Amino acid sequence: MSGYIDLHIHSTASDGSFRPAELVQQALLLNLEAISLTDHDTVSGYTEAAEAAQGTVLQVIPGIEISTRFRRAVHLLGYGFEPASPVLREVLDWIVDDRDLRNEKICALMRKDGLPVTYPEMKQRFGEIVGRPHFAQLLLEFGLADSVEDAFHRYLEKGCRYYQLRNFLSFETSVETIRKAGGLPVLAHPFQYRLDDAGLRELIRHGLDYGLCGLECRYSGYTEEQCVYLLRLSEEYRLIPTGGSDFHGSSKPEITLGDANVPSAYLDPIRNQSLS
Ligand code: AMP
Ligand code: FE
Ligand code: FE
Ligand code: ZN
Repeated sequence: MSGYIDLHIHSTASDGSFRPAELVQQALLLNLEAISLTDHDTVSGYTEAAEAAQGTVLQVIPGIEISTRFRRAVHLLGYGFEPASPVLREVLDWIVDDRDLRNEKICALMRKDGLPVTYPEMKQRFGEIVGRPHFAQLLLEFGLADSVEDAFHRYLEKGCRYYQLRNFLSFETSVETIRKAGGLPVLAHPFQYRLDDAGLRELIRHGLDYGLCGLECRYSGYTEEQCVYLLRLSEEYRLIPTGGSDFHGSSKPEITLGDANVPSAYLDPIRNQSLS
């Protein structure tokens, strides 16, 4: 895999199953040249990954994936920002506080059904970012579901017993925040939003108004044809093309690290832009 990178990876800092240092070891075994941990709503895995990669040939780029809203759920990636940025911290704290409120409600519902769940214990076990995938994991362990997917279908999806709404940062604020933190905001997995060509272009143009810099053009499961289409869009709107696997480890076993075959050349504009 020499000559390749993977810029979309989740660790135990959010809902991935491998620790940041383990991901660094796996990336080294695959001869990847650079990785970015893009944990949901947190940068807390960065330090461990950067330290594990020190003295090796692997580059670790600061990264994040923020769940935002623009009419629908839109995921925004950020790269190369200052991990300790106070502007970013403030926004991430808001997200964690909001998650905490929602998660406490889910725990209370589960306790009412006699399940031994306390939120402090979940935070202790899963860390700062506790999400529905962790509740799915518990339901699996209680023998109430056969798989994470099954736990979502039975209990955690909208309309189900343990579904509780959480609030989302707007797409616009998220783009601006990544910029203010010195990073590059990138639209994640553009085919996930069920938009047609006109809809996707509208989303991109709207993002550009707030400082969007990149488009995720290579992604696990996207065909060459789809990648070519996205690359063409990135050229047309002068967006930096990025790519990554969205590796989560055991919770998404169909995806492996390095899956998206992202050439190392993709790194150059990211490095140049985040330095300036
Ligand atoms: P949360 O942000 O805590 O509400 O959890 C959202 C996360 O749950 C998403 O990032 C997905 O990874 C995961 N998720 C959502 N729906 C499903 C589903 N039907 N099956 C498996 N995972 C899901
Ligand atoms: Fe996830
Ligand atoms: Fe995503
Ligand atoms: Zn992701």
